[in-house]
Amino acid sequence: MVTTTDRNAGGKAAGRVVVIGGGLSGLAVASRLQQAADAARRPTEVVVLEAKDRVGGLIATERRDGFTLERGPDSFITNKPWALDLCRRLDLEGQLIEAEASHRRSFVVRKGKLLAAPEGFVLMAPHRISPVLASPILSPWGKLRLLMEALIPRRESDAEESLAAFARRRLGREAFDRLVQPLVGGSYTGDPNNLSLRATLPQFLEMEREHGGLIRAAWRRRKEADARIETESSGARYGMFVSLADGMGELPRALAAGLRPGTVRLNAPVRRLSRAAHGSGWVVEPLNGPPIEADAVVATTEAHATARMIDGCDPSLALQLRAIPYASSIIVNVAYRRERVKHPLDGFGFVVPSIEGRRIFAASFLNVKFPRRAPEKTALIRAFVGGGSQPELFDLDDDEVRRVVAAELGELIGASGPPIFMEIARHPRSMPQYVLGHLEAVETIRRKAAMHPGLFLAGVAYDGVGIPDCIRAAESTADAVLARLADPGSIAAA
Ligand SMILES: Cc1cc2nc3c(=O)[nH]c(=O)nc-3n(C[C@H](O)[C@H](O)[C@H](O)COP(=O)(O)OP(=O)(O)OC[C@H]3O[C@@H](n4cnc5c(N)ncnc54)[C@H](O)[C@@H]3O)c2cc1C
Repeated sequence: MVTTTDRNAGGKAAGRVVVIGGGLSGLAVASRLQQAADAARRPTEVVVLEAKDRVGGLIATERRDGFTLERGPDSFITNKPWALDLCRRLDLEGQLIEAEASHRRSFVVRKGKLLAAPEGFVLMAPHRISPVLASPILSPWGKLRLLMEALIPRRESDAEESLAAFARRRLGREAFDRLVQPLVGGSYTGDPNNLSLRATLPQFLEMEREHGGLIRAAWRRRKEADARIETESSGARYGMFVSLADGMGELPRALAAGLRPGTVRLNAPVRRLSRAAHGSGWVVEPLNGPPIEADAVVATTEAHATARMIDGCDPSLALQLRAIPYASSIIVNVAYRRERVKHPLDGFGFVVPSIEGRRIFAASFLNVKFPRRAPEKTALIRAFVGGGSQPELFDLDDDEVRRVVAAELGELIGASGPPIFMEIARHPRSMPQYVLGHLEAVETIRRKAAMHPGLFLAGVAYDGVGIPDCIRAAESTADAVLARLADPGSIAAA
């Protein structure tokens, strides 16, 4: 057993924190802990235990024959500032690249054709009406019903609503089926019939509550935004989506490089967590290696993985953690010679409504979206298979996945002949689904975790699925850990 006193032979009172999981969340927790502890001159040892042989978790960039392949996330949003701020602190600002302005649009499949999504239609809110009226994606009746949104009174009930129920109620069935479902389903890798509006996109609920409806709210906000743009003139401004010149993998790489040498231990899957027999600490048991004593433990692993570790110590907390459902998806990076693809690829990619009955749910044109992702005269397409709406497709074997993707890209963008390569990245049970009741479930989990002083939970399972959300949650968890180390009597469960 490696105990905290083993390391404190120098006589200084130190705290040891074990962070489980070396994905973005775990690395962000560790980085904040070390920096804040150093700034406060509080000796703190941080250990990150990662099951795999590399850091980054879902984020993974690979280079192949001059192509930059993203096996996981390809970008992050900037209207939530935490990821951008972290990049600045890590000296990555010079690497930030914006999505190509000249092709800033995406397509929606209708009857097998790629049609441009109406400009200004953001997930669920039409910020501009004329592009919706001009769009061939909706029928005349679908458009009329969407416009009637402005007349539909706000809902009085506080009962939780699914994303799909909200969108159908406000915008009509056709706008849901043809626009909202593919746009939202693509972002959350989920089925909007099950997803909680309050837990995923509460801003739309606010729009209804504050302004009476989406069209009215979008119109007012657009006027405010126009006014802001006219008055604000300083500071670097970025478009909605940014990435890093050498790929998203640079973010975990830079985080890990900033940690003290020896902080991260790879190939160190944790199998069990238990309370120390004496004192208020924890014992962390890696599968291969001696148990480690810690004053605090931060589990940033998938909720089902955390459940397995904590089961022996608190089966009821484990049960709650296991109840968070996860979706599995496959990302297929496909490289073609440019002349083999008929479509002009003049956008960021496309989403596919479920009612089209296809076997990919989205694809992005990666070398159009971001510069220098692929050699000249080639096209790099990233297709998505499976997700919450088509879970059965995750079970296809690699050959079947290749056949499905080649056939779909053949029909949808006129890709023909053998690709230069197809690279398959599987993400089993990796995207938490914030279904109806998610917020209450997380509250219960937090309440139960708070019964175990020194145990902290962070990561994508709880308070937001995007990269900026994970960073924010990781940093506030690190602050709560430091508060506890400074005052062990406090019960500061994050
Ligand atoms: C297909 C897909 C595409 C996405 N695209 C985007 C995007 O473009 N933009 C965006 O903002 N967000 C995107 N996301 C979300 C984004 O990936 C997450 O916000 C973020 O990467 C989550 O980081 P994390 O550290 O919380 O979790 P993870 O990355 O899942 O990290 C968890 C880590 O825990 C480790 N682990 C598991 N069990 C154990 C154990 N027993 N012991 C030790 N270690 C263990 C795992 O190996 C892993 O490294 C996407 C998600 C998916 C699934």
